[in-house]
Amino acid sequence: MPTYGAIEAGGTKFVCAVGTGPDDLRDVEAFPTTTPAETLDRAAAYFKGRGIDALGVGSFGPVDLDPASPTWGHITSTPKPGWRGTDVAGPLARALGVPVAFDTDVNAAAVAEHRWGAARDVGSFVYLTIGTGIGGGAVVGGRVLHGRTHPEMGHLLIASDPGDGFAGACPYHGACWEGLAAGPALEARWGVPGAALPPDHEAWPIQARALARGLVTLLLTLSPERFVLGGGVMRQAQLFPLVRAEVRAQLNGYVPLPDDLDAFIVPTGLEGNAGVLGALALAHDRAAQAAG
Ligand code: ADP
Ligand code: ZN
Repeated sequence: MPTYGAIEAGGTKFVCAVGTGPDDLRDVEAFPTTTPAETLDRAAAYFKGRGIDALGVGSFGPVDLDPASPTWGHITSTPKPGWRGTDVAGPLARALGVPVAFDTDVNAAAVAEHRWGAARDVGSFVYLTIGTGIGGGAVVGGRVLHGRTHPEMGHLLIASDPGDGFAGACPYHGACWEGLAAGPALEARWGVPGAALPPDHEAWPIQARALARGLVTLLLTLSPERFVLGGGVMRQAQLFPLVRAEVRAQLNGYVPLPDDLDAFIVPTGLEGNAGVLGALALAHDRAAQAAG
């Protein structure tokens, strides 16, 4: 029975695990993301002796995913100190001597939601995490959408509420989608982390409007059959009905929607494990490809 290795390579922490799927996810170990050399050495050391057949990496980005590029598997333009231009896949492949699959953290999570989670029964959907930033992965016709590099849905330039004086929290764009609606935006606007705001706080209708604007934009662009929403901010369960109602209101009848949006805009089916399970799924597929 083959065993796969998985790394959820986040900007704050790396999560490593081995196994074959949600019912067989073993030895999950997390450690902080420090320098590239130290962090990648530590990840390689974790897998040494565990007999993995392939490794999957779901990485923070932006990353180079072009198989023909000399910098495939590198992190490209990140603002994270020390990590710009870091080769992630190469050192791991050399240290471990196994095939390595590499994709964004959110594309990996989308693969996991499709295979094992909240999107098993659809061929097209968008996975989004609303956390420290907003990241999204789209599955279109059963395949993860890559394109020239990979989508960066978090930075959609959506409108603010009329008269909203909040400048937004994105260092690149101010009030882009994640600048308005990720966790740090909530904290910047209200002076406390989102987790400290009560469920009936005035923050949530504003938050739902901003989230819905991005969802409507994606709906009009990709026509997904479902949205799967995860990340720390979506632990605020009261957001789901608010977001569903806002999506319907903002579309204003132009695109027919299901009568019941409960199965259209749904929470993640894999709790906090979508990223690491996605990396495992990538490893599985890479091994299958290597075996021809
Ligand atoms: P990351 O995006 O770094 O992977 P998370 O998905 O946990 O991590 O997101 C962290 C962000 O989510 C922080 O900005 C935090 O304030 C916010 N957050 C975490 N838990 C909650 C909560 N229960 N309600 C609202 N915001 C939350
Ligand atoms: Zn932005």
